[in-house]
Amino acid sequence: MKRISRSVEAPGSPVLGIDGVIGVPEGAPVQLDLRLESVMEGVLVTGTARATAEGECVRCLEPLTVEVDADFQEMFSYPDADDRGRPTADPVDDAEDDEDMFFLEDGLFDLESVLRDAVVLALPMQPVCKETCAGLCSECGIRLDENPDHHHDAVDIRWAALQGLAETVQDGEKDNMGGAEPGVDEKQEK
Ligand SMILES: [Zn+2]
Ligand SMILES: [Zn+2]
Repeated sequence: MKRISRSVEAPGSPVLGIDGVIGVPEGAPVQLDLRLESVMEGVLVTGTARATAEGECVRCLEPLTVEVDADFQEMFSYPDADDRGRPTADPVDDAEDDEDMFFLEDGLFDLESVLRDAVVLALPMQPVCKETCAGLCSECGIRLDENPDHHHDAVDIRWAALQGLAETVQDGEKDNMGGAEPGVDEKQEK
């Protein structure tokens, strides 16, 4: 049994995390604390990875960071043994099983995919800056937490006309609207 503590740089492309949502920036430090156990069929690796992930709030789009604390455990088998330590006559035999198995190569193991899975599981799928984040105004896009009294009295007559027009267009060609709310992209001053 052996313990190893090491700081490594986060891999990039794709980012360590949930691509496009939240992740540990490429090159950022990832602190690994590993326990390596020699067992009959290979080496059992148990560990924790700690890093800081960056992303943005899904409601208000403000940047945020999340401290990642990911636990993982994986068996790295000797190349000539299956997961129960039996010698495999034909390693290509069970192609499906092999996808879930990890092997030692020249006395080394590659932790990257194990680390990636663990970090994804440890991250929120829908990160929010805070649980109560009210998000953005659906009409003008202003951040509601910073403007608690924000509201729109009534739909401006000119926008109402556009809205009616948009609905007419939508009836004709639904696919081209892309689900966008009419007027949301336009910044309304005041
Ligand atoms: Zn937010
Ligand atoms: Zn508004």
